[in-house]
Amino acid sequence: MAKDGIPTPDPRQVRFAKAALERIRRRRLREYEAMLVTGFTRTCPVCGYVGEFAPVGEPPRLDGLCPLCRSRERHRLFKLWIDRRGGITGDMTVLHFAPEPMFEPVLRGKAGTYVTADFMRTKVDRKLNIEALEIEDASLDLIIAHQILEHVDHHKALAECFRCLKPGGRMVVTTPLVESWETTYENPALSTPRERMLHYGQKDHLRYFGRDLKDHMRAAGFALHEFVAVEPDVSTYSLTRGETLFELTRPAAAQKKSVKTKTRKG
Ligand SMILES: [Zn+2]
Repeated sequence: MAKDGIPTPDPRQVRFAKAALERIRRRRLREYEAMLVTGFTRTCPVCGYVGEFAPVGEPPRLDGLCPLCRSRERHRLFKLWIDRRGGITGDMTVLHFAPEPMFEPVLRGKAGTYVTADFMRTKVDRKLNIEALEIEDASLDLIIAHQILEHVDHHKALAECFRCLKPGGRMVVTTPLVESWETTYENPALSTPRERMLHYGQKDHLRYFGRDLKDHMRAAGFALHEFVAVEPDVSTYSLTRGETLFELTRPAAAQKKSVKTKTRKG
């Protein structure tokens, strides 16, 4: 008996399992191929397409991709947020990090000033580091930062975005998060892209957030609203059940709290 009560299997059984592995893989591939066509009719709130959606991702998420505008589940959730809570008007200044191309026409038409930004990409209006923004205090109405916080020092990023937002201004964030984890998983020993792929699900992610991300957001001074993918939106627009878009508001007249919160290790 090995440590932790995990048994040592019979070597013959292990050889049998390894032979079974290939058979199971081939069978599952054939099954997947048949599953990829669901026949469901979905609606894309981004481009208006109505019809069958395509699989996307590894492993494939069925009906994850709109074949017309290429929106994925989180993009469609964000479009619903824009339509229902966005309240974006012609007198607003909007900063959009790592802009998703399908939103450019939507947002340029709504916001008075719409600025796209990225640290690496060049086809954007400004090259900006979200951890140290070259932007005036209290000058923005809305910051959009989808799938950013898992790549950067999120404490610094949240503090910088708070600083640059006008009182009452908002930031919208989506990021991979395991709601049932009390604390964020961050392991400094993981140094290679492959290790990060195994532990965090993507080679350039720095952590996997637990629900304490919400504490980190509040510690930066924000008030939180959670815009969650629920029915009937999930089946209509093909969203990920329970996916949450965080809407962070800089309170209209509040003291900025200390941003020097510790990063928890999990
Ligand atoms: Zn679409």
